[in-house]
Amino acid sequence: MIESWGGAGAASVPPKVPESRPIPLGAPGIPPDAAQHRPAARAPPSDSLARPGAGAVVEEHASADGSARLVVRLRDGAAVETVMLTSGSLCVSTQVGCAVGCLFCMTGRDGLVRNLSVDEIVAQVAFARERRPVRRVLFMGMGEPSHNLAATLEAMVALRRDFGIGRKNLVFSTVGSPATFDRLLAHEVRPALALSLHATDATLRARLLPRAPAIEPRALFDAAMAYSDGARQPLQVQWTLLEGVNDGDEETDRLAAWMRGRRAIVNFIPWNDVPGTGFARPGLERCRALVRRFHRMGVLAKLRWSVASDVNGACGQLRGAVG
Ligand code: SF4
Repeated sequence: MIESWGGAGAASVPPKVPESRPIPLGAPGIPPDAAQHRPAARAPPSDSLARPGAGAVVEEHASADGSARLVVRLRDGAAVETVMLTSGSLCVSTQVGCAVGCLFCMTGRDGLVRNLSVDEIVAQVAFARERRPVRRVLFMGMGEPSHNLAATLEAMVALRRDFGIGRKNLVFSTVGSPATFDRLLAHEVRPALALSLHATDATLRARLLPRAPAIEPRALFDAAMAYSDGARQPLQVQWTLLEGVNDGDEETDRLAAWMRGRRAIVNFIPWNDVPGTGFARPGLERCRALVRRFHRMGVLAKLRWSVASDVNGACGQLRGAVG
């Protein structure tokens, strides 16, 4: 989540929720392509906000700046989080947990629990629309959308059809693989793409994103760029800034060189505190200097502050816990 949210006024209704048990990666009975399985549930073809069986909002943490984090309890007792931004954007989850296990993120700490169904993804938008208009949906919440690709794409179709959200306002955020980009390009929606790159050096990226597909970052960037050009949408590069890890000139200048002259923008996201990781956020002046440096090189860059860290709703802090 890369806009302001979080703050005062948390309204909690802590229910009794059965504990979700994370499924270890590679567990028997979990096929490697489990994420690709088509869920049975379909979003109803209406603007109805009632999604029987798709879960319920059990907590709403309102922000001082007008944004809010919703906790949605699913029918099996698992929970996911959805963040409403003041801009009319909504950050939704596609999985309970996450298999990628990025070191700087809370969501992936316990691995993947399960995929969400189409209805469970669409319901997050429906719940948000009960509270405010939703013009843009960011698939940047809990989970890796490419690991639940069929459901995510079907949810996008439903959001266009039933809620009138255009494809440029559907943002698919992923650690990426060329196979995913091929499927996106072949699909009728062809959403905007946000590539979670975070590093240009292969060894560093493999350390930070331990279970992302093992692809040379340059090849990954080029494949993402080819998708975005094909979909006629600018590429968004996501880069969580970690002090002394990926905020140095060598790393970032390489990224700038890749991006120069391309239809792309990098979102620098100063890291949000996740206990026990050992990372730190670069200082404000370093973050600003980095953006200025990119602009001098003729590359689009923005500094995206996640707030809501006070309600654990910022980028990398979502964990799907009730209470
Ligand atoms: S940053 Fe995204 S892909 Fe990485 S563990 Fe967190 S939710 Fe998963």
